[in-house]
Amino acid sequence: MSTMPGEKVLIALGGNAIKQAHEKGTYEEQMRNIRKTCENIIQIVKKGYKVAITHGNGPQVGALLIQQEEAKDIVPPQPMDVCGAMTQGQIGYMLQQTLLNMLRREGLDIPVATVVTQVLVNKDDPDFKDPHKPVGPFYDYETAMRLTKEKGYTIRKVKPTGDKPYRRIVPSPDPIKTVEQKPIKILVDSGVIVIASGGGGIPVIDEDGFLKGVEAVIDKDLAGERMAEVIDADIFLILTDVEKVKLNYGKPNERDIDRMTVNEAKKYLEEGHFLPGSMGPKVKACIRFLEETEGKYAIITSLDKAAEALEGKTGTWIVRE
Ligand code: ADP
Ligand code: MG
Repeated sequence: MSTMPGEKVLIALGGNAIKQAHEKGTYEEQMRNIRKTCENIIQIVKKGYKVAITHGNGPQVGALLIQQEEAKDIVPPQPMDVCGAMTQGQIGYMLQQTLLNMLRREGLDIPVATVVTQVLVNKDDPDFKDPHKPVGPFYDYETAMRLTKEKGYTIRKVKPTGDKPYRRIVPSPDPIKTVEQKPIKILVDSGVIVIASGGGGIPVIDEDGFLKGVEAVIDKDLAGERMAEVIDADIFLILTDVEKVKLNYGKPNERDIDRMTVNEAKKYLEEGHFLPGSMGPKVKACIRFLEETEGKYAIITSLDKAAEALEGKTGTWIVRE
């Protein structure tokens, strides 16, 4: 099993492509990671694949929310959807500049552009009534109570102990469609490397035909799948921090999955092999890609194995049958 140069690949970059777990997230650290990430993407471009990119924003939007909170008496805090847009610009800029410089070094004249992307969600999504996604800073009891009262935040204790065990919980509704689908498609079809739907996109709802940003976050892999639909991707390539998805993850009988069919993936998902909030949504996104598009393969692997995985040498491949 292998993919073919010339095919269209939607690459979904995981958190470690921009910031490692142990890092603070300085500009230098992030640029170092982004350079490594882009070296891997350039390898794929050089082989002749058409590439579009999406990425996460968890640590970056978390930091920005802390800045809103801490500076609230000096600068008016911006809502979550605006913070999401800011991180799309921030990360898009770093990726776009690094990719452009590397393409130039290779003598490749390929344009790169970032699209600020809204993603439509259903205002009746069950997650709005029963939110579950922790975001932003950790709070002590007093701050948690104040924010609940002043801002109406849903705040939950997310750690059993410690000074600051509380965190804001927001909805993570299912993405329905990429609002900027036309411009993204036009850019991709004319040969531009497009970076879009960053951080899962800015969640918006439809209110009597008009869009409105909401305080929520969208899973970046599920939103990435919607972007793959938009560009008619042949391959949906999810790059994270594990080379292969595992069965019995974290147990003594853990083992690598080299290949699974959509039906097998559904069965394993039901059996609880893929944790919610991490591998679960990735596998769900791959299933959706194969069920709702004409795409050929979905592959989950690590960033540094991306090019090898496309050659069929590694990664977990999800196939129709
Ligand atoms: P990303 O930032 O790339 O989206 P996540 O942390 O959300 O990364 O997802 C990758 C993580 O999923 C792995 O590091 C691992 O801890 C976790 N995980 C959960 N279930 C599995 C599984 N069955 N196989 C491999 N990894 C799994
Ligand atoms: Mg994730």
